[in-house]
Amino acid sequence: MAYTIHSAAVIGAGVMGAAIAAHLANVGIPSLLLDIVPENAKDRNSIARTGLEKTLKSRPASFYSKRGAQLVTIGNIEDDLEKLAQVDWIIEAVVERPDIKQQLYNKIEKVLQPHTIISSNTSGLPAHLLIEGRSEQFRQHFLITHFFNPVRYMRLLELVPTVDTDPALLQFMRIFGTEKLGKGIVICKDTPNFIANRLGVYVSLNTIQHALNEGYSVNEVDTILGTSMGRPKSAVFRTADLSGLDTLMHVANNLYKNAPDDEQRETFRIPPIVQQIIDKGWLGEKSGQGFYKRVKGPDGASAILELNLQTLEYEPQTKQRFASLGAARRLDTPAQKIKAVLQGDDRASHLARETTAAALTYAANRAQEIAESVVDIDNALRWGFNFELGNFELWDVLLQEPALLAQIFPEQELPELVRRVQEKGQGTFYITGNGQKQFFDFHTDTYQPVPTTENVISLSTFKAGPITQGQGVIKDNGSASLIDLGDGIACLEFHTKMNSIDEGIIEMMRYAVEDGAKQFRALVINNEAPDFSAGANLFLVLMGARQGAWDMLEGAISGLQQAHQLLKYSSLPVVVAPRGRALGGGCEIILHAHHTRALAESYIGLVEVGVGLIPAGGGSKEYLLRMGAGVESQKDGKGNGPFTPARRAFETIAVATVSTSAVEAQELRFLRKTDAITVNPETLLRDAKADAIKLAEAKAAGTWQPAQPQQLLLPGTGARLVLEQQIEGMLLTGKVSEHDAVVGRHLAHVLTGGDCSPITPVSEQYVLDLERAAFLSLCGMEKTQERIQYTLETGKTLRN
Ligand code: NAD
Repeated sequence: MAYTIHSAAVIGAGVMGAAIAAHLANVGIPSLLLDIVPENAKDRNSIARTGLEKTLKSRPASFYSKRGAQLVTIGNIEDDLEKLAQVDWIIEAVVERPDIKQQLYNKIEKVLQPHTIISSNTSGLPAHLLIEGRSEQFRQHFLITHFFNPVRYMRLLELVPTVDTDPALLQFMRIFGTEKLGKGIVICKDTPNFIANRLGVYVSLNTIQHALNEGYSVNEVDTILGTSMGRPKSAVFRTADLSGLDTLMHVANNLYKNAPDDEQRETFRIPPIVQQIIDKGWLGEKSGQGFYKRVKGPDGASAILELNLQTLEYEPQTKQRFASLGAARRLDTPAQKIKAVLQGDDRASHLARETTAAALTYAANRAQEIAESVVDIDNALRWGFNFELGNFELWDVLLQEPALLAQIFPEQELPELVRRVQEKGQGTFYITGNGQKQFFDFHTDTYQPVPTTENVISLSTFKAGPITQGQGVIKDNGSASLIDLGDGIACLEFHTKMNSIDEGIIEMMRYAVEDGAKQFRALVINNEAPDFSAGANLFLVLMGARQGAWDMLEGAISGLQQAHQLLKYSSLPVVVAPRGRALGGGCEIILHAHHTRALAESYIGLVEVGVGLIPAGGGSKEYLLRMGAGVESQKDGKGNGPFTPARRAFETIAVATVSTSAVEAQELRFLRKTDAITVNPETLLRDAKADAIKLAEAKAAGTWQPAQPQQLLLPGTGARLVLEQQIEGMLLTGKVSEHDAVVGRHLAHVLTGGDCSPITPVSEQYVLDLERAAFLSLCGMEKTQERIQYTLETGKTLRN
């Protein structure tokens, strides 16, 4: 049977259900959000309503844009049951009680259509138990879709089929989850708590037990087992606080009950002291205190206290210092850091060794029971818990260091699966063979290619490939590379610190557009760092300003403007593919490209005022055009006269607005409506390349032409005075500082077109000259230099 999902219903509007509905809205899928009817309620939808309202306020935001809430229709399971017949996918996210879930399925079954997909978001109840007694049709169309919290941000989506699930449905959901929802899919066997929670809860409870037995403090454990061990900073106790101690308890109890043969079953008994904490209602973040508690001191400053596990009193955290962690901090890769901690001889190393031995042994012993491959287990831990290395990648680190392996497993026999890798395999779980990453397949004891998403491409693979095959690095200057992606498409990649834009990037941009046009059909600008670009290289700006090297600064800013103009007017179609932050100069590249393919998680903005500057690489000019200041837009009335675009641009840039998603970037017009969004980070480059090919084909067919020079109608002095009045008002009411006002006046001057006439069009170059003059003037000011220095030193902005 062929499946499609154009609409959905989420039942249970709690933490997870409402957030799942929000994420569906994020990707354009309308949903019904249903919950129970409260007793004696006037508003029969009040629970779903509250769920939706809470989700709209959640931080970090669940919706890409608040407008997404329009795609969620609230209701209740009594009055709206029939409506379930109209949706393609029903997701159950009610309380974790099998009896309640089963009663609900009984109701749903009565309205189920032949095409309806039904899934449960259970954290770990066995799927086959949930569907006992259901019809064949129900069972064929049922599976578990286990989202992680927070739904929008956690990449992992575990899919758990039962023996009855239609294999075509599983295949459909794998592709739908990857491509439409942007998730990292892991298929799990139908065993209690599936993969991530099974292994994750074991690690948590085993570590807590160690801490209690050996007197490690809460903060000590989190410091030791955090970033130095390739785990998130929240490590063990803070993670438990974030997900809720009650959730930890439910998941552990479920395991204790449903996995009677687990040799580590006793680990899943909640220690009495933790039970006491739960009984007190100290459930973590949601109840304001758990293993940590945030308090306000008499001076109003907030501090985070840690719970003393012996006395159950909150105490100030003590700074933890360990030689092994210090050594790890100086190293680069997660594997090097982890080795440094494990090899040490202090208290941190001792805990790291003990808990690593336990976690790795448990994973190796459970692997075949819970998963189809070690790759799935590693992915589950990386995507579900933000571990930098999965358990089997970590096994490989040890297997390649026999002395360390012996130190961690002194007397112990290695798990049977590990021995098989040593005896029948090549000694590690992963190998590189035929230029491919391969894994030890425990079904056959042979190595198989690590599966990848369809047609996925990555810059690192192209960079490793031979140039002769039309793939590889064509040019590199230390700051940027030009990489041949094949099919006539080149990729410009930045690789400076934080991808800040320097001379090298500008030079490569010029080369890519000028020489690239002779060799390629289209250009993609992309990199695989978490952030596309933090903007211009502020260090160089500060040095230039402090040394009074005005000619150098003027040359640099002019070079940037020209490079961006080259991009804009290039006869080579240019697609930019940002992810993460694209700020200042990074945003300007987007504004000048022909098309953007943005990752949904893109945070885009012109933030120059934060460092006492204004966008001067053509960003002010392009943003005015996006707001409708172009003569053409003014003609067709879209711009509402020359003041509106200038005022709107001012309102966004003057407060350094940054979009919280690519969808919001479209609302703010940093992206066009025609720009495209990819939800899955893994497929961004693939999609950008496909867009580039389309533009190249359109060019060949004569339906795409390079941009034509534009003119702008700007409102001039009168409008500037209006904006300046607004600035004065904000200054008087203390909303902005003196220097904010100075920067604001310069910005107003540029955006209103200086002394131009509101009826005479100006050229792009005219606005670029205004940008440059304002930029240089601000660079010469002490307060701007202080701001830049502060940002360089702290990464934060100074309001001086
Ligand atoms: P929650 O308590 O926040 O919300 C559950 C909602 O279900 C409540 O609004 C409740 O009124 C509603 N409900 C109860 N019975 C119902 C019924 N018969 N019909 C309709 N609605 C009903 O719980 P949650 O944290 O959102 O968890 C929901 C499911 O997701 C559970 O199965 C849980 O194990 C799973 N889960 C939770 C998390 C998490 O971190 N919270 C993560 C992954 C999975």
